[in-house]
Amino acid sequence: MENVLFELPERYLTLQREARGVAAACADVAARADEADRFDPDVRSRLTESGLCSVVVAGEFGGRFAAVDSLAVTVVREALAFESAHLDSMFAMQGIGSFAISVGGSDAVRKQWLAPVGSLEAIAALALTEPDVGSDLRAIKTTVASDGGELVVNGHKSFITNAGDADFYSVLCREGDGYSLVLVPADTPGVSVTSPHQVIAPHVLGDVMFDDVRVPEDHRLGEPGNGFKLMLATLATFRVSVAGAAVGLAQAALEEALRHTSAREQFGVPLARLGPVPAKLAESWVEIEMARAMSYRAAAAAARDPFTALHLSSIAKVGATEIAGRTVDRCVQVMGRFGLLQGSKIERLYREARPMRIYEGSTEVILDSLAKKLVKDRAQVGR
Ligand SMILES: Cc1cc2nc3c(=O)[nH]c(=O)nc-3n(C[C@H](O)[C@H](O)[C@H](O)COP(=O)(O)OP(=O)(O)OC[C@H]3O[C@@H](n4cnc5c(N)ncnc54)[C@H](O)[C@@H]3O)c2cc1C
Repeated sequence: MENVLFELPERYLTLQREARGVAAACADVAARADEADRFDPDVRSRLTESGLCSVVVAGEFGGRFAAVDSLAVTVVREALAFESAHLDSMFAMQGIGSFAISVGGSDAVRKQWLAPVGSLEAIAALALTEPDVGSDLRAIKTTVASDGGELVVNGHKSFITNAGDADFYSVLCREGDGYSLVLVPADTPGVSVTSPHQVIAPHVLGDVMFDDVRVPEDHRLGEPGNGFKLMLATLATFRVSVAGAAVGLAQAALEEALRHTSAREQFGVPLARLGPVPAKLAESWVEIEMARAMSYRAAAAAARDPFTALHLSSIAKVGATEIAGRTVDRCVQVMGRFGLLQGSKIERLYREARPMRIYEGSTEVILDSLAKKLVKDRAQVGR
């Protein structure tokens, strides 16, 4: 057993093979899907057919495993992001948008939504960001209030993944002096969606307006004022999976660069043996392996105890996304002008790597909270 101490256990390897198969089945539509601002129908139908989204829902609601397992989600995202950011996002958002329902939803709400989320019949979204509020979520202006046995939501959410295609939004609202998450079905009167923005790597993205939107009282997820607790639960389970996606993307970039630099010669030798090119390729390999090892370690810890492992998930997220950024930049460089071609895979990966360092906790915000923890832990040891 000792020599397998740092390998994935068999059930994750089986899942990895399955996810790689799903990714390969989407390869022919990946370039098109990754430029789409709405759900790509072929990617959706192939992901649905695969049954893979059952990984992000707990067993009692039709999910694959007894509980949502961060290592399983991370392994799947690595495999999917290797081929397509659109495919990876479609998979990941089912978990990120629905986890608060798993943790805090009433029996009726869980019964209604979680099985369809796991089978990709219902599309999930998480709506936190607002036009004037990003990292500082305590400054949100969207409100929820009880009125005649119902909840009334008012506000404007911005840059919401899956907006327009989602069947429901888990919406962070101000409630009195606290914050609550409220589940709002997309077809509720008063909900409207616009698409004022698009990012450099197109994404299913939109703004969602809530104008006197009324939902039943049991659509508040968890107790009143528990919104941040539920968000933390989502973060603790899913943040590390962004690291997995970053590793998959970086691996794809390295393989593109290897293919090109092995085939093209300058000065009578393959680029892969010329000047600093070999070092750039090897440096990328070193960093990707470090990111992968850290991602699996953090994800395994999160699978055991997400809250205690949050600092490891944060380290993995920052480390892997920054490495993906550096790797893809090096890969573009060693491919010369061919790394810049619009419509090429490496150009797509270059654009897709960039947002990862900003969403789900920007690098700077995470580093700030890690630094606070370092100092606090040190002070406790010193006492
Ligand atoms: C592709 C994409 C998809 C998204 N999907 C969703 C979604 O589904 N749901 C959702 O709610 N939101 C979503 N977002 C929004 C995303 O969560 C925000 O972009 C993110 O929270 C950062 O907020 P901001 O962009 O307003 O940056 P700001 O908060 O304005 O930050 C700007 C800069 O200041 C730095 N900064 C801010 N605060 C601090 C601090 N305390 N210490 C140090 N540095 C700091 C940041 O690191 C950053 O470099 C998405 C964004 C993108 C790009």
